[in-house]
Amino acid sequence: MSKLLVANWKLNPNSIKEAEKLFLSASRITKRSKDVEVLICPPAPFIDRLNTTNIESKVKLGAQDCFWEEKGAYTGEVSAPMIKKLGASYVIIGHSERRKFQHETDEIINKKIKTALRSNLKVILCVGESINERKKGFEAAKNFIKSQLFKDLKDISNLQPPTSNLIVAYEPIWAIGTGKAAKPEDAIAMAKFIKSNVNSHGSNVKVLYGGSTDSRNLDGFIQHNEIYGALVGGASIKAEEFKKMIKITQKYV
Ligand code: PEP
Repeated sequence: MSKLLVANWKLNPNSIKEAEKLFLSASRITKRSKDVEVLICPPAPFIDRLNTTNIESKVKLGAQDCFWEEKGAYTGEVSAPMIKKLGASYVIIGHSERRKFQHETDEIINKKIKTALRSNLKVILCVGESINERKKGFEAAKNFIKSQLFKDLKDISNLQPPTSNLIVAYEPIWAIGTGKAAKPEDAIAMAKFIKSNVNSHGSNVKVLYGGSTDSRNLDGFIQHNEIYGALVGGASIKAEEFKKMIKITQKYV
């Protein structure tokens, strides 16, 4: 069973020194393996330096976002080819914090995914329902996710390289940073549902779970074949905690 553990550092830590310390702590216990991947997504300005720190390249690097155009008059943006050249092999797109604070729409997310795939980055597309959707019931949450997938992945299956470079992270918004993770059985049901929507043309898109995972609840999610791994926020910037999570993930391969 292959697994992927993703650290989303968000806007942390404050300095490159702290970033290197955190990165090396994860790197030291990560084995080079094709079956378990540890991916760290630091703030973009740290990618290059961590790529140099990562001389044995056991931990992969990713970005937390990229812009949809490759160049031009777009102040403040970072392009997919730029982050690729810095050493990132993955990019997270459509995180709920970007949908909320940067007002990213599904149309914007769709454009970003296309650009990232064209730049040979692997894409981790985040989808997830709000607490209001979830309160309407699991079927309503499924319908919400279905609509996000439909819009975010419009015309993607025709792209070269195709969806083998696409992973979907199911991240219910109410579970992110709240300490209230989803029930593993609900995450599994949603992972199956996502695959049934995305994998209709013979592709094999994998699904991660994200939302308040830590070393106490990670097993409950990743022990199942349906769940390819976890996208970890808060716990990924606590060195000891994230090390425990790496060790747990290594048990399942
Ligand atoms: C996230 O930011 O994607 C996330 C899952 O955060 P946390 O683990 O802190 O809930």
